[in-house]
Amino acid sequence: MGPVSATAGPAASPDLALMPAGAPRRGGRPALSRLFRAVRSSRKATAGTVLLVIFILVALFPGVIAHDPPNASIYPRALGPSAQHLLGTTALGQDIFAQAIFGTRQVLIIAIGVGLFSTAVAVLIGVAAAYLGGLWDGSLGLLTDVLLVIPLFPLLIVIATYVQNAGTAVLVLVLTLTGWSYTARQLRAQALSLRHRDFLEAARVRGERRLYIILVEIIPTMTSLIVASFMTNALYAVLFGSSLQFIGLGDPNTVSWGTMLYWAENNEALQTGQYLWAIVPGVLIVTLGAAFALINYAFDEIGNPALRPVRGRRGRRGRLPAVARPAPAAAGPATADLATAQSPAAGQLTGPGGAILEVRDLTVTYAMERGTVTAVDRVSLDVAPGEFVGIVGESGCGKSTLLFAIAQLLAGPAAITGGSVVFKGRSLVGLTDTQLAAVRWKDLSVVMQSAMNALNPVKSIGAQFKDAMRAHGVSSRQEIADRSAEVLKMVGIDSAHLKSHPHQLSGGMRQRAMIAMAMLFTPDLVIMDEPTSALDVVAQRSLMVQIKELQQQYGFAVIFVTHDMSLVSHFSDRLLVMYAGQVAELGATREVFDSPLHPYTAGLMEAFPSIRGPRVELSGIPGTPPDLSRPPAGCRFAPRCPRATTRCAADRPELYQIGATQVRCLLHEHGRNSGIADPDLTGPQGVSSD
Ligand code: SF4
Repeated sequence: MGPVSATAGPAASPDLALMPAGAPRRGGRPALSRLFRAVRSSRKATAGTVLLVIFILVALFPGVIAHDPPNASIYPRALGPSAQHLLGTTALGQDIFAQAIFGTRQVLIIAIGVGLFSTAVAVLIGVAAAYLGGLWDGSLGLLTDVLLVIPLFPLLIVIATYVQNAGTAVLVLVLTLTGWSYTARQLRAQALSLRHRDFLEAARVRGERRLYIILVEIIPTMTSLIVASFMTNALYAVLFGSSLQFIGLGDPNTVSWGTMLYWAENNEALQTGQYLWAIVPGVLIVTLGAAFALINYAFDEIGNPALRPVRGRRGRRGRLPAVARPAPAAAGPATADLATAQSPAAGQLTGPGGAILEVRDLTVTYAMERGTVTAVDRVSLDVAPGEFVGIVGESGCGKSTLLFAIAQLLAGPAAITGGSVVFKGRSLVGLTDTQLAAVRWKDLSVVMQSAMNALNPVKSIGAQFKDAMRAHGVSSRQEIADRSAEVLKMVGIDSAHLKSHPHQLSGGMRQRAMIAMAMLFTPDLVIMDEPTSALDVVAQRSLMVQIKELQQQYGFAVIFVTHDMSLVSHFSDRLLVMYAGQVAELGATREVFDSPLHPYTAGLMEAFPSIRGPRVELSGIPGTPPDLSRPPAGCRFAPRCPRATTRCAADRPELYQIGATQVRCLLHEHGRNSGIADPDLTGPQGVSSD
């Protein structure tokens, strides 16, 4: 079918289909009232809806408006308009007004029927192809493309010829089978853009099933696009259905605008001066089509604010929307106290026997067109119960990839190509989603980088908590409500916000809500991927204090990834500094901070201002990290290192043990500990690489 929709289609931004203001809630009146408000706020939607409602009323109660029988040839032929026959009569002696009124019902049945069925097929095929990927995407995409390139009207004529004099049901079936492909392609493009959004990754890591993710997580976020698809398909049905009836492919004895045109053409209405017989059904088809098109355009604009015409900045009511205020943080020890506080296990800097997480020689490789890139290069790390480990480094150093590899959340083209991840004695590498679901969230949970992306925008916080608990077998409503309120309170948010949607919370509150969700089952390990990066410094500090308090209170271990070394240094027990996919330095946070051994660590520290002490000019680290598809032959930091020697460009440094710290730098080769390479002697610090 032709490009009858104004929907942006494949080029649409990921957010186009979202309806922040009118996000649908399941269940009755709130969703309807939001839809009503959305329609009222758009002139196009209002005009289209008014027209459509008029047509629906006419279709429902035609006898109230027209009193003459539509098909009876009982009147004088070819009369002009009069009080008895408002639009005159046909050459066959039928009342044209009655035919136009009674014909509305069949056109609407075809439009709504084809709209519903075609959209259902398009959603099913488009979303399934995008989410399942691989062979599914290939075969469903091929089917869609084949249908798109076949000239539709000739195809319809061929099919309709075989089912000549077909009733309404057959017409709906034929139009559905031929009409779903255009909107399926649009929906697939939209679903593809959503596939790797954090809130879907979060649902996956919570252990949700694929069907559940498609039906409950993906499809509701595409509401406006699905409504626009329905309108597109309905418009297509009005135009093509009437066209088929006009050329006689349908039951000519039914009363419909298309069959009116058929009989008018057969009786040469225009040539014999019976203009209204041909013009009235034509105008009605155009008007009904315009109603569907106006609503379609309006929903495009609702889904994509960039398409809306610019109006007064303050809006119709002259008020800007209220901004949600962050809830005050729960009372807790002062930051300074927490900065020096030790985690429950901080005194015993992990040992192989007592670690809950043992990462050995973990290697992650990206398959790129220009070759493979090793983003994480043989990293080993142990995390003890209740320990807080910070992982720091510049963008692209591999810290987030390491974190995703530990949580088994990597997606193509990234893959674990070496090493192991053992959590509580069980290897996670190679487990299926079902097997991982038993571990994730209950024992190991993940807090994603941006809560706005990680939380489902069209579901309330409480509904998302409920989903997570149900996915792990908690079915008692009371238990779910109590625990949801409890965890929200733990992070300093009033339980009334369980009814709030993510967009109704401030950035800090959203991130706290994510942490609350991670706490639903009080896991042993919480993995956090830059949870503070989108917050201002005050909110960052407040959130870090909250995380530390929870960790001390409930004794779970934390792996905290950040690029902000100064922030994490106040809260972590150990610090792992990564550079170019490798461990550059690891040790107790205080030692690394007080006397950094690696020139890169020292450079990172010099990039942050000190709150106390004299004001000094920040130097930063010159240059950029190396291209990991062609890493330097010697030390990877050599091109940027202020202490590099000629040897550094040729010799690859290993990890050397200096006291309680491990460092990858030739300057410390003299302190090499031959035991580092021995897994049994990975050391109380529990880290090695190479
Ligand atoms: S090995 Fe050489 S280049 Fe690398 S960090 Fe040490 S001094 Fe700098």
